[in-house]
Amino acid sequence: MQPQKLSQSTLSALRGIVGQGNVLTSDEHRLCYAYDAQRLECVPDAIVRPADTAQIAAVLRLANENAFPVIPRGAGTGLSGGSVAAAGGVVLDVCRLDRIVQIDETNMLLTAQPGVVTAKLVSAAEKLGLLYPPDPGSINACTIGGNVAENSGGLRAVKYGVTGDYLKALEVVSPLGEVYRTGARTVKSVAGYNVTSLLCGSEGTLGVLTEITVKLIPIPRFRRSLLAVFDTVRGATDAVVAIMTCGVLPATLEMMDGMTIRHVEQANHIGLPVEAEAILLIEVDGYSDAGVAEEAEIVRAALAKSEASEMKTADNPADRERLWEARRSAIPALARARPTTMLEDVTVPVTALSEMTLFIQQMAREHSVSVATFGHAGDGNLHPTFLADDRDEDEIARVKQATAEIFEKAIALGGTVSGEHGIGMTKTRFLPMETGPATIEVMRSIKRAMDPNNILNPGKVFFED
Ligand SMILES: Cc1cc2nc3c(=O)[nH]c(=O)nc-3n(C[C@H](O)[C@H](O)[C@H](O)COP(=O)(O)OP(=O)(O)OC[C@H]3O[C@@H](n4cnc5c(N)ncnc54)[C@H](O)[C@@H]3O)c2cc1C
Repeated sequence: MQPQKLSQSTLSALRGIVGQGNVLTSDEHRLCYAYDAQRLECVPDAIVRPADTAQIAAVLRLANENAFPVIPRGAGTGLSGGSVAAAGGVVLDVCRLDRIVQIDETNMLLTAQPGVVTAKLVSAAEKLGLLYPPDPGSINACTIGGNVAENSGGLRAVKYGVTGDYLKALEVVSPLGEVYRTGARTVKSVAGYNVTSLLCGSEGTLGVLTEITVKLIPIPRFRRSLLAVFDTVRGATDAVVAIMTCGVLPATLEMMDGMTIRHVEQANHIGLPVEAEAILLIEVDGYSDAGVAEEAEIVRAALAKSEASEMKTADNPADRERLWEARRSAIPALARARPTTMLEDVTVPVTALSEMTLFIQQMAREHSVSVATFGHAGDGNLHPTFLADDRDEDEIARVKQATAEIFEKAIALGGTVSGEHGIGMTKTRFLPMETGPATIEVMRSIKRAMDPNNILNPGKVFFED
């Protein structure tokens, strides 16, 4: 591990801001913060754990004076290397800011500090009959700050949208250490540039989010879940298009391929059809039992015309929960299979899902690598997950080649290299392929204007030679 590079006077100044016990410099601590949920190792020089906005602002002012990088971090569940120290410096762990500040039941708004775990936010709203819809698979661990910084999606995005669709207002510490507010608590606001949207998905490179206001909706109390089984992946992807055009918008439309099904079943013994080559997990929801029953019937009719070999309805809450637990456990189950899991995040129009999925399988065969694919099929968002061993350099090189070709294909199909996990460190090379140089220059000029000393999360989003 490389030695810690911050000077003693910088470390004492940091201790003066956040207190002795909240500056961590031991090798053990630095190693613990050297990873997110990707496999890159980037060891920070120190970890600083502020208690409030004023301390965060003071850390950033010091960073500008003494020229060290600051990397905001929530729970570290990111999948693109966003919260690790690409160029050394201080990891700013915001998890002590973990308070729900206010729930305004009548205006259906919730204000929280960034370190609030998303599941805790959801359950606080649920107690009042309200729903915060974005539900990333990592909901029990990730933070609302991380969700906003990544503009995270989730299982319900196909009907309810992603984090940014619920974001109303922010308190932010700028890279220079100034505190400011953006957005409004009203249903509508067009007052000036939409800085709130700019910060949403900015991956910790343009500001540290210190307070977040999101809108809530009444809980859709009625739901029906369906499982459809297919002998081919193509049958499943064709059925996705049939469902998306049947006149009903499902709340959730997820797909798992055969390899994913078998790994999930091996890990969790849920009773999934292990002979199948693909399954779709579908849920419809709404505010009236009869309406939801009717919608479920329409989806069933669309599936009946597809190549589904079997359909099951999960009628009771326990069966339903088992189905969704199966989907949520896809990443942990696959991660048990081989020493290294390399999970990707391509998104294409749903009409291109078949071609994209078959191309992923073709790449696996051509490059002799092992890939399991699952994802938010209704969003066209696929997670091809390579199961490899990073002690085998040749295998990793083949995975990287297959991944690059998959990204190229996604772009050619009118898709994107990231539907929800962000660019971070892992996709900087691919972003220009999607956007072109002029768009990258717009992004760079925003970064330069807001962070002239390149303090916040350097080495992310932009490719550096
Ligand atoms: C099992 C599993 C399932 C997942 N499922 C999904 C899914 O369904 N959908 C999805 O979108 N993602 C998913 N993810 C990815 C990840 O959970 C999300 O990106 C999540 O939003 C990250 O939150 P975090 O608190 O862990 O943030 P971190 O990983 O700590 O940070 C992520 C990024 O946000 C920045 N950041 C964090 N907090 C702040 C802040 N307060 N201010 C400014 N910047 C900040 C960091 O610098 C970094 O760039 C999954 C990950 C795992 C491991």
